[in-house]
Amino acid sequence: MSTAIGEDFDADRWRARFRLDGKVAVVTGASSGLGVAIALGMAAAGADVAIGARRVDRLQETRKAVERLGRRCIAVPTDVTIIEDCTRLVESAVNELGRVDILVNNAGIGGEYHQATEDPPEHFRHVVDVNLFGSYWMAQAAGRVMQPGSAVVNISSVLAVTTAKMPAAGYSAAKAGILGLTRDLAAQWGRKGIRVNAIMPGVFPTEATAHYSPNYTRKLIDARIPLGRIGDPEEIASTAVFLASDAAAYITGVAVAVDGGVLLL
Ligand code: NDP
Repeated sequence: MSTAIGEDFDADRWRARFRLDGKVAVVTGASSGLGVAIALGMAAAGADVAIGARRVDRLQETRKAVERLGRRCIAVPTDVTIIEDCTRLVESAVNELGRVDILVNNAGIGGEYHQATEDPPEHFRHVVDVNLFGSYWMAQAAGRVMQPGSAVVNISSVLAVTTAKMPAAGYSAAKAGILGLTRDLAAQWGRKGIRVNAIMPGVFPTEATAHYSPNYTRKLIDARIPLGRIGDPEEIASTAVFLASDAAAYITGVAVAVDGGVLLL
């Protein structure tokens, strides 16, 4: 006997796919900008959150905001260039929140603008150290404790695959490296039930872009952003929550541009 269309559709089960109830998310770089929005987005979707960055006072502000949403939160001073710090952030999450289901590798720096022939080696090294190496140390630590059903979301950039017509070799290389890291870890960990994806943000109003003048931002929007505006950090957070959730259970190894169409042009 055939069932009517939709008879066995469970709307509650469907809605639960988009939730993170009972999960624990680790978010790096949650002392400002996109990391704050991501931590709050994870909490609003039901996850407890462990946050890491270097500025402890700012991290505590994020912790309080997460707690106001009714979720547990621990703030762990973390420099992602230091492997022991990365390990400690993940261990603290396991010890105090019970598990790690989600890692968002968001900590990053834009670096300075140097022509390649003038770029100080230490500058290039540092930009790669924070953006790429830091993401790998965090992924290693999380990958050791994550159970099947877990997810890593790496914050890359549209500059991984295009240019801003400003010299940013270290940043572009590091963010492109994150896409390679995403693919490799996704392939390595697929059978362990751990998904690994990346987000490529376009332009968002944070400390990283605070030096953009209104005039530069206007020109950027006119020339490069088909949707006609810069992004809202919550639009990165919602994408991170989606990729971390069971709604994205069959998505791994991809990079999602959240850029208002920058990559179309
Ligand atoms: P912000 O400068 O506001 O935030 C960067 C965050 O990274 C801060 O919380 C900072 O915390 C943290 N961080 C920097 N260095 C370290 C470190 N060594 N160890 C731990 N944490 C560190 O910038 P955004 O929010 O814009 O940037 C977030 C991510 O998004 C970055 O990876 C950035 O490259 C990426 N991105 C942003 C875009 C934008 O338009 N805003 C566009 C494309 C990508 P603290 O200083 O306290 O350590």
